Amino acid sequence: MTCYALLYSGSHSSINHKINKLSNGLCLWVFSNLDKGRLRIDCSTVIIHKHINNIKLVRFWPRKTIILEHIIQKTKNAMANQYIDLDTLKFILYEVHDLQSVLDQARYTDYDQASVELFLNAVKDFSDKELFPFFREMDEQAAHYKEGEIIVHSQVRNYMKKGGEMGLISALFDYEIGGLQMPNIVVTASAYIQETANNQLPGYIGLTLGAAELIVHFGNASLKETYIPKMITGDWGGTMCLTEPQAGSSLSDIITTAVPDGDGYKISGQKIFISGGDYQGVENIVHLVLARIKGAPAGTKGISLFIVPKKRLTANGDLIPNDVNTLGDFQKMGQKGYCTTHLSFGDQNDCEGWLVGEPNKGLKYMFLMMNGARIGVGRGAAAITMAAYQASLTYAKERPQGRSLTSTGKKDASQEQTLIINHPDVKRMLLLQKVATEGALSLVLLASKYHDLSTTHSDPKEREKYLHLLEMLTPIVKTYPSEMGSVSVSNGLQVLGGYGFCNDFILQQYFRDIRIFSIYEGTTGIQSLDLLGRKIPMANGKALELLSTEIMSVIKEASEFSELVPYANKLGAKLKLVEEVLQFLMPFAQKGDYERFLSDATVFMEFFGNIVIGWLWLEMATKAQSALASGDTRYTGDFFNGKIHAMKFYFKYELPKTTALAEVLMNKEVLTVAADTKMFA
Ligand SMILES: Cc1cc2nc3c(=O)[nH]c(=O)nc-3n(C[C@H](O)[C@H](O)[C@H](O)COP(=O)(O)OP(=O)(O)OC[C@H]3O[C@@H](n4cnc5c(N)ncnc54)[C@H](O)[C@@H]3O)c2cc1C
Repeated sequence: MTCYALLYSGSHSSINHKINKLSNGLCLWVFSNLDKGRLRIDCSTVIIHKHINNIKLVRFWPRKTIILEHIIQKTKNAMANQYIDLDTLKFILYEVHDLQSVLDQARYTDYDQASVELFLNAVKDFSDKELFPFFREMDEQAAHYKEGEIIVHSQVRNYMKKGGEMGLISALFDYEIGGLQMPNIVVTASAYIQETANNQLPGYIGLTLGAAELIVHFGNASLKETYIPKMITGDWGGTMCLTEPQAGSSLSDIITTAVPDGDGYKISGQKIFISGGDYQGVENIVHLVLARIKGAPAGTKGISLFIVPKKRLTANGDLIPNDVNTLGDFQKMGQKGYCTTHLSFGDQNDCEGWLVGEPNKGLKYMFLMMNGARIGVGRGAAAITMAAYQASLTYAKERPQGRSLTSTGKKDASQEQTLIINHPDVKRMLLLQKVATEGALSLVLLASKYHDLSTTHSDPKEREKYLHLLEMLTPIVKTYPSEMGSVSVSNGLQVLGGYGFCNDFILQQYFRDIRIFSIYEGTTGIQSLDLLGRKIPMANGKALELLSTEIMSVIKEASEFSELVPYANKLGAKLKLVEEVLQFLMPFAQKGDYERFLSDATVFMEFFGNIVIGWLWLEMATKAQSALASGDTRYTGDFFNGKIHAMKFYFKYELPKTTALAEVLMNKEVLTVAADTKMFA
């Protein structure tokens, strides 16, 4: 039996409660002290409050008399829809980033927009049923270590199985190996939908996919045959094992060792912080491990990649333990349902590993996947930002508090309270959430499109161009959604006032969950070094030149609409500011003063990332403006006007921050490099 409990937001001590049994077997708990037992609420004020097992707690503010069944229907609708704005996802996917230009590539001829739409709707349905209902539970029932294994929520098992059956692991792969050969941009959209519903479960599939992708790209035929079929069905999980206690950001310091042994290697060493490192529900876990073959050169040039399964196959096909030992699970502030394990390989000198590709090329191979993983991390952060925005928006539309100012500058206490969404400061916070949410989504989908075109375009020159663009955007995709997403979710929490800080509401979980995204897969500091130190100078500035051309083409398109001209001009001025900043910074690199050149790389990331998002907002507004001009009715006028308004908000409140950041970047004072560590005493 499903129960719905309604909580009145007033003082609990004054609440009488009664239980209403409804004809359809549902049980509704009503807490009410209003009008001598008459329930007076406006169903539009009902929002999902909390999930505890099969009980759904619902919070409401009293208004008008309503019918109980109506509340239940409203509750169900709210549960199904509250974490994502699918229209915006589809608008950006189909219209802004022109999905068709990807579907036109020969590899994707079996797909059209209608089949993509069907797939995405199925993923949303799957997320409503298999992901969102478990999101809070997974936080409350954190993964934990018990007697040599990690106990995770039972839904992990169902998710791997059903996700595998649905093709969520195999979607990207070729038909010949059982894949669906779907475009990356569509798989990204699908993962994004899932992550808005529950940002913990998709990690189990994401890592399995990433590990399988490594084997597909670099493994020999025998490795592919052994591992891929089991991994793409979700029967076996996968991980990426890079980090060691002494080797976090600095992977050149990895010491896990591989010693040749027959046709394989004996592996020994420890890996920490391994996501999805051990859990029930899969028959085996395939670890992709970075290790050093005995005698290999020092540094990154001596790192190789190995498949090290938790259980290895015997000659007759049985699975036996492979001396991979689970030592613990890191207890974290967020993403508590997504296990983070400490693994030890070869304690009994009986851990076998198989080399992937050639010796000493492991980091290069891993980087190929890490770039995908970096986009995946940006996508996850963008998804949480979206879910948090939806939750705050729902609240702001339902919470009455305070009154608007009258023309005398005073408030009229005899009037009913207004909803908080009517306060300009709440609108400001929601608009900030909107621009961060949709800007991040657009960025993530664009990077995925570049990925598709860099691998499938028929013209090799175009492939090279898109590869440059992808490489340029990758550190920004990892960073902007993570960093600005945190700010956005924090604002979302603020929209709820005191309730935002309380466990009763979901915002605090989003706030905790998103914090890791600027840390794993390379911290913001490391991404920023990559952006300024490698990507900007890459190929003599070729990638930057290509990106500038893309930005200029949107400026040109926007300039055709008189309403957008001022914004196009502003963006053009910011492109010039980028040049100015680089003219100031590059001479440090040319003189060999790299420490100074890169000392403010993170400030540069914030500066440059902000301008990139400005570009994407201008693009979105241009598409919306053009749709309005052509009388496009696929979306409402409010929808299109909302995009144009949000762009204006971005250009008023966010883009000007780059002026101050440029001032910091071009300031001659050197305060960090020069700071003597003694001054921190
Ligand atoms: C929840 C979670 C899940 C994870 N999952 C995985 C996984 O599945 N597989 C895996 O292999 N790893 C995983 N990690 C590890 C993660 O990738 C590392 O934590 C991360 O790369 C940073 O390494 P570190 O923690 O050792 O920090 P450190 O490298 O010690 O960095 C500490 C600080 O110093 C800065 N810093 C370090 N070096 C430099 C430098 N050269 N220049 C400027 N600043 C620098 C960093 O930016 C950071 O602010 C996970 C970590 C967590 C917390």
